Amino acid sequence: MEVTVVGAGLVGCLLTCYLARRGHEVTLYERRPDPREAGAERGRSINLAISERGLDALRRLGLEERVLSAALPMSGRMMHAQDGELTFQPYSADGRRSINSISRGDLNRLLLDEAAAQPGVTVRFGHRLTSMDEQTGRLEFDTPSGSVVEKASVVLGADGAFSAVRARLRNLPGVDYSQEYLDYGYKELTIPPGSGLSQGALHIWPRGSSMMIALPNPDGSFTCTLFWPLADFGIHDISGHFASVYPDAFALMPDLSADYAANPVGRLVTVRCSPWHVAGAGLVAGLVGDAAHAIVPFYGQGANCGFEDCVELDRCLDATGDDFGAALALFESRRKVNADTIASLALDNFVEMRDKVASRMFLAQKRVEHALERVLPGRYVSRYELVSFSTVPYAEVERRIAHQRRLVAAGALTLAAGAAVALRLLRRR
Ligand code: FAD
Repeated sequence: MEVTVVGAGLVGCLLTCYLARRGHEVTLYERRPDPREAGAERGRSINLAISERGLDALRRLGLEERVLSAALPMSGRMMHAQDGELTFQPYSADGRRSINSISRGDLNRLLLDEAAAQPGVTVRFGHRLTSMDEQTGRLEFDTPSGSVVEKASVVLGADGAFSAVRARLRNLPGVDYSQEYLDYGYKELTIPPGSGLSQGALHIWPRGSSMMIALPNPDGSFTCTLFWPLADFGIHDISGHFASVYPDAFALMPDLSADYAANPVGRLVTVRCSPWHVAGAGLVAGLVGDAAHAIVPFYGQGANCGFEDCVELDRCLDATGDDFGAALALFESRRKVNADTIASLALDNFVEMRDKVASRMFLAQKRVEHALERVLPGRYVSRYELVSFSTVPYAEVERRIAHQRRLVAAGALTLAAGAAVALRLLRRR
């Protein structure tokens, strides 16, 4: 079958590989020029943490090893206090599990190479979708040489948080849609090689109303992301600000002022939309990845979740004999609740990362959590581990966490009651 995928980002490329494996002929349209020739956009190369959900989707296509060979494992968070004190907090109870830092550009190029190499796949760069008519199947693209019109019968929108495919769906009657911008933005900064920072950790500078993180690169440099209220990005003396708020990082950032001036401020949005698909007389269209469910990056799950979408859609195509209309409806019925759950968790985690990780109480709670995991292996697993090191559906993770909490509360009550009885008996003696 001929399938049109819009957006050759992370999810569009992986989805194309999955569709080609099923024997479909895929045309992949991308608004940008070929990134393998044009290079990365400045200030948009933010690293990604890829964890089990993403790896599982890559593994199923035999791509895991290649991706991991370009990645660096991070086994925990390294917190940088304002006075320079460092505290390491492992991500897993046994301290052995890691999430993986990889350059977004490298990962995109690798997946693009893989997608373009599949039989039946055509990639058209410099094609920005501008309109889609589900009744006639007419698609219009803006290209460097003018407007181009194509026809399609199946369109999958993998065109990111500001999706043009979704824009068409949004205008249809009965569509439930919301987009929620944080009043925080982000900016990419760099720590060059030779900093001495540990390469095996995700570094965090939690400062309450702002936060910076840094992920390692194979050349020894770190890609930093500064999260800050939008209004504060207009600051005049960025060096003075860093010298007082992030003093240890400031000492490692010789190019801070130049990076700060050159790199754009990105916006952070959560998009909730339903339905994710439409079936008109002329075509069936559906959304995947950020186009369906853009989330804020604080759980490191946006791309992981989008990769998991590809696995789920592949399963739905199996279940429906490649009937795309039925598969997209099934996909949404299985996936939407999970996308909504990770969207909420990602928003909650912002508060945890910028604020709570710095508190002694939070660190003590994490130690108790890891101790429970060691005492009750497989029966008590932290939310972070279930989200990052398993493929348990996100909504199921939340049910499991609620159940575990009830068990621990009941256990604590039993212990407290036992202790009270023992105390009473002792007093009677
Ligand atoms: P995108 O990557 O946005 O790709 C969409 C593609 O569609 C692009 O190539 C774009 O050019 C193209 N396109 C757009 N409009 C059109 C059009 N009209 N016509 C044709 N082509 C079009 N996720 C993680 O899993 N781990 C992380 O650690 C992580 N960190 C993040 C940090 C930051 C600061 C941010 C902002 C996000 C982070 N994410 C992370 C989320 C992750 O980047 C996204 O979830 C992921 O990129 C979504 O992939 P996608 O392919 O759906 O969309």
